[in-house]
Amino acid sequence: MKKVLIIGSGAREHALAQTFCRSEQVETVLVAPGNDGMQDIGIQCIATSATDLSGLVDLALREKVDLTFVGNEEPLTLGIVDLFQQAGLRIFGPSKLAAQLEGSKSFTKNILQQYNIPTARSVTVSSLREAQQQVGTFGIPVVLKYDGLALGKGVTIATTQEEVAAYLQDLYTHNPEDKLVIESYMAGVEFSIFSLVGENGVMVHAPLAQDHKRRYDGDKGPNTGGMGAYSPVRWLGDEVYQQAIKTLVVPTVNAMAQEGMPFVGVLYTGVMLTDEGPKVVEFNVRFGDPEAQVVLPQFQGDFYQVIDELIGGRQPQPRWQTKDVYVGVVLAASGYPQSPVKGAAVPSVDDVSPLIINYAGVKAGKANGGRVATIVAHGSSATLAQQKVYNKIDTLKTELQYRHDIAYQAVQSENKRI
Ligand code: AMP
Repeated sequence: MKKVLIIGSGAREHALAQTFCRSEQVETVLVAPGNDGMQDIGIQCIATSATDLSGLVDLALREKVDLTFVGNEEPLTLGIVDLFQQAGLRIFGPSKLAAQLEGSKSFTKNILQQYNIPTARSVTVSSLREAQQQVGTFGIPVVLKYDGLALGKGVTIATTQEEVAAYLQDLYTHNPEDKLVIESYMAGVEFSIFSLVGENGVMVHAPLAQDHKRRYDGDKGPNTGGMGAYSPVRWLGDEVYQQAIKTLVVPTVNAMAQEGMPFVGVLYTGVMLTDEGPKVVEFNVRFGDPEAQVVLPQFQGDFYQVIDELIGGRQPQPRWQTKDVYVGVVLAASGYPQSPVKGAAVPSVDDVSPLIINYAGVKAGKANGGRVATIVAHGSSATLAQQKVYNKIDTLKTELQYRHDIAYQAVQSENKRI
């Protein structure tokens, strides 16, 4: 019987823990550091931080862990996979070099351009003068991407010349030599593909997902970590899914191997379906949160076995359910994302039953962070799944905040067909 360690502390890691628990080979699942919400319902959490890499190696050796699965990007870009492998430990995720696909936007744009993989035109600049010279060639709106991981700047879509000028002034006044990716704006429908990539380029693809990054209904308000998601995205059709895999995902995995830094792990391809076909918006090197909470419950079979086969370079034959649509709604503390307020009561598993709840920012049964939990329902259509999840949330009378329109594009599409 096997012991699995999951690294991370959010609702995504809770969903990963549940998926591994369903494997018949898995006896124990540990999560480091996990959170109080999952601990209170019997998941074993260990208080080692996700960025304490040597602490995590010690933990995996001490606990004789058979397999480690990394949920969040930070340890991956810090090189946790290289470190675990040096210690003789089995881990699923990209090396530090391959994790640059998420950690560095200029690295990714170079790979995409070099291998002719469809994406928005871009240039990378590293001074105010260069930025000012280049930005005019992109028109408006223009996309400005700070070249680094989660440094608070992220992505800005500037819609006026004044906004561009102010952004550049501000950036280069504080950081005169920083790299900036300037990119043309792509209009279209966005979706995500999660591919589990193994050694020798073997891979399996999960059903498509769509998330909702903006805080308020109708995609208004500030960007957040994600307010909800649904999967599969039936209305996009199988052809788009297959085309995106063939033209974006497979060529990227091949390109990384060619470059001598083969990618192993979860490749999250952010796709824009434009008039010219699917194009890459971004890559991440782990599951999305909240997409994992709606994608993973669709997995049927033995997740441990699939990951084990991938690490061994053998092609798995996974099965995903196709009957239902899964809709997940994030409950967040009021004030999220700017200044989340702690202390609101958090619904229990019984309160939410028979729906699924995955916990994130919870301490002693109360809200303790931005995103607190994800509630997931499934039904034979997006409309039915959406009704189920919101009917349940209505009964909770919760003080926590949430969007009321998760999966709206799928519901609109279903209404049109009736
Ligand atoms: P990224 O961090 O690169 O994923 O960007 C965050 C979000 O910004 C994406 O999910 C898109 O909604 C948007 N975005 C990024 N690049 C572009 C682009 N070239 N055109 C339109 N929207 C974009």
